[in-house]
Amino acid sequence: MSKGIIQKVAGPLVVAEGMRDANMFDVVRVSDQRLIGEIIEMHGDRASIQVYEETSGLGPGEPVESTGMPLSVELGPGLIGSIYDGIQRPLDEIMRVSGNNLARGVEVPSLNRDKKWKFEPAVSSGDKVQPGDCIGTVAETEIVTQKIMIPNGVSGTIKSIKSGEFTVEDVIAVVSDEGGSDREITMMQKWPVRVGRPYKKKLSPDMPLVTGQRVIDTFFPIAKGGVAAVPGPFGSGKTVVQHQLAKWAEADIVVYIGCGERGNEMTDVLNEFPELIDPKTGHSLMERTVLIANTSDMPVAAREASIYTGITIAEYFRDMGYSVALMGDSTSRWAEALREMSGRLEEMPGEEGYPAYLGSRLAQFYERAGRVITMGGDEREGALSVIGAVSPPGGDISEPVSQATLRIVKVFWGLDSALAYKRHFPAINWLNSYSLYIDTMSDWYNETVASDWMECRHKMMAILQEEAELDEIVKLVGMDALSAPDRIKLEAARSIREDFLHQDAFHEIDTYTPLEKQHLMMLLILAYYDLALDALKSGADVNSLVSLPVREQIGRYKYTPKEKIESEYKTILDNLEKQIHEQINEGGEL
Ligand code: ADP
Repeated sequence: MSKGIIQKVAGPLVVAEGMRDANMFDVVRVSDQRLIGEIIEMHGDRASIQVYEETSGLGPGEPVESTGMPLSVELGPGLIGSIYDGIQRPLDEIMRVSGNNLARGVEVPSLNRDKKWKFEPAVSSGDKVQPGDCIGTVAETEIVTQKIMIPNGVSGTIKSIKSGEFTVEDVIAVVSDEGGSDREITMMQKWPVRVGRPYKKKLSPDMPLVTGQRVIDTFFPIAKGGVAAVPGPFGSGKTVVQHQLAKWAEADIVVYIGCGERGNEMTDVLNEFPELIDPKTGHSLMERTVLIANTSDMPVAAREASIYTGITIAEYFRDMGYSVALMGDSTSRWAEALREMSGRLEEMPGEEGYPAYLGSRLAQFYERAGRVITMGGDEREGALSVIGAVSPPGGDISEPVSQATLRIVKVFWGLDSALAYKRHFPAINWLNSYSLYIDTMSDWYNETVASDWMECRHKMMAILQEEAELDEIVKLVGMDALSAPDRIKLEAARSIREDFLHQDAFHEIDTYTPLEKQHLMMLLILAYYDLALDALKSGADVNSLVSLPVREQIGRYKYTPKEKIESEYKTILDNLEKQIHEQINEGGEL
């Protein structure tokens, strides 16, 4: 173990000499207070250390000791429901040990060492095992069952395996490897956070992560294992979008990494998240959630670690064959941490002072998402979908972090304060948002939901785009200048916006729309549009077509309960056809 002494302290950066035997990314303990840091640069025997705790009061001459280990997380039963800081220290435990103001250098294990978990073995003595094989399970919460897996680098034959109640450090199995030596297996594994956990194969992003949020599923879907970015100007409904995704997205496990700027932002998350009810089970959402929170007591550098801590935990659950959704809020704060460290290291600054490697760091992070075939003999399929919030200063996404992010992610949900101001929620702007997964997922939608799904989507998108153009004309020359078909088009566009895209997160039924219903909603709106255009040709009056009573019913269809989706759709369609016919007849009589 390498021991050195502090040469200089600059905020979260500590430079130590005499560290010749240490390695890049080793975790070090700094000063007698044993603050936790990580080596991020080595020059000869000089190590530059990013310290994850407040460094005030430290000075040259104090000791620095390398642990010889990279920054790692503990993986095993006890993760679910936990609230950790950026280096996986359980917040409630450190508060208990050190009081409300986090004392420095506190050492608390990430996974509880005393708690006993009921382990049920799934293999027997004599069975052959390889890395990733599930050797048993622990029912961690009522909803989440953790698979206990053979760690990387271990394979051979099960020599013995136990059943019963154990702590995460108790030996639950022994594996004899090829060479005949024994490896003891516990329920806990460690993994270095900066290294992605291995998998067998990455699958193509050809199925959506269904969210029940219409503007997302229909217009800008994210693939299972995909990556999306969402900018969140204040008050634009970012929190509600995140909560909706956490509650409703097809994910078994949610990992939420909060790097708030202001202290109270994080407190909000810590208060709100545990109160969310999981609609699928009626239990607290925390029963399938891991929260990583950078509290305001921790220096910015800790945000950097938190991103990696979070994604490693998420990968671990993906390894079990789960669908995991990770939300990072916000990645801009993480980038600011990179900028601060880079400045202190006196690196050559890139755009707006961000380091030149900003783009590659972001890419390395997002790359860890994906739908994969996991390690292990039984070919499990797991997915890790990542939704990163960006918070550009002033909401202007031309700045470097947003731009670098947009080059990597495939989905962009452009939350728009103007829409939020008009109370159009979710305030996702349909004109500048996009999903590059559409092409790879169109077969899935057409085969799984309805053969004309993509066709309907394209038609609706086209109407909205044409609406934007017509709006310009209306602004210049007024509504009267529009042709009758264009007026119908504007009405169809309004219906798409108000009856389809607008979705009330707080309405019992509207909060989640299954894909089948989304499809029927599209059919109704498009049926109105097509039939009204035909009726115009047969001489119907445009004003009457605009104010058909059935349009009210189309607008209320989103509140139709599940069991009536089909029958109500038929009723509305019948009414629509009848009322259109009446208009044609009246127009014809004139
Ligand atoms: P932000 O986190 O961006 O500051 P919030 O997510 O807290 O904003 O949203 C602000 C307010 O907008 C919420 O309190 C809520 O009243 C409203 N809102 C946002 N999204 C929706 C939605 N999908 N349905 C209904 N109301 C919404």
